[in-house]
Amino acid sequence: MTETLRVTPDDAGPDADSYAELRARLFIPLGVAGVRASMGVFEDVIDGVNRLVTSLRPLGAEVMRFPPVLPRAMLEKSGYLRSFPHQLGCLCSLGGSEREIGLQVERFYAGEADWTDGLETGDLVLSPAACLPVYPLVAARGEVPETGLRFDVSGACFRREPSQEFGRLQSFRQREFVFVGAKEGAAAFRDEVLQLGQSMADALDLPHRVVSASDPFFGRASRVLALLQKQKTLKYELQVPLAGEDTWMACLSANYHEDHYGQTWDIRVDTGEVAHSACLGLGIDRLAIAAFIRHGAEPATWPASVRTRLGL
Ligand code: ATP
Ligand code: ZN
Repeated sequence: MTETLRVTPDDAGPDADSYAELRARLFIPLGVAGVRASMGVFEDVIDGVNRLVTSLRPLGAEVMRFPPVLPRAMLEKSGYLRSFPHQLGCLCSLGGSEREIGLQVERFYAGEADWTDGLETGDLVLSPAACLPVYPLVAARGEVPETGLRFDVSGACFRREPSQEFGRLQSFRQREFVFVGAKEGAAAFRDEVLQLGQSMADALDLPHRVVSASDPFFGRASRVLALLQKQKTLKYELQVPLAGEDTWMACLSANYHEDHYGQTWDIRVDTGEVAHSACLGLGIDRLAIAAFIRHGAEPATWPASVRTRLGL
């Protein structure tokens, strides 16, 4: 776990990008921090990581794939708006008649006005986490069996956290294993999937550590909320070391939500109790990046065991 990475040591000062060469091989910047195009060699590994995740999917998990957008009302009710409004992206589009939209655009090209002045807030937000739609969908189905329901979900996520960090994107891909059911089941699931997460890191031959973590809550109550989350050990992260002193990147988190979503969406277990939930949130881009950092820019030269697990 304390092994050193096979990467160029960061000896050029804290601001140097130790991964500049690797980044240039894998990505093309699109001019906004944390938004990039990726090359085929990176996407092949993304596909491999997804195959690895599928091979470890919990038994009986129902598969769902979500679009990159969510109904705004769903997001508001989920509690995400209160906890992380600073990371949220909301979709807007030009409103009015065809004539009004046309005028707005022409005035922009004539240098008279900004076309964004004509934007109207829509009923969609960019999805910030892959598991959010699961809970209202479960609620709509009625009571949950005592043994619980398991899901394998994924989707593109947006979080407004522009950064130059290699693994911090504004637009990234998440895969999640989710449980909704009785309290004991949810707590056990969280521990079970944390072990799955460690198996994934082992399959990728990634040195790593598991730490109790908290979310970047918004506002005045943020410190108390983060402290409470840590005290109750609701969230664990699996982190991999990066170049630089004590720099780590979280590749996945295992979360126990207690009855937050059960209360929010009025989900009941058939025993009558309010449902509890848990999830494993996998940062698919970060898992792939971690593999490149560890094994180098050419997947053809990676250890045979890693290539086999990724199906490369
Ligand atoms: P971090 O502490 O690095 O900000 P997080 O606690 O916000 O991560 P979670 O909400 O637990 O992340 O999401 C699960 C996983 O999704 C993370 O462990 C990470 O691998 C990935 N992820 C989260 N935010 C980003 C991002 N901005 N860019 C790329 N991957 C991300
Ligand atoms: Zn984050």
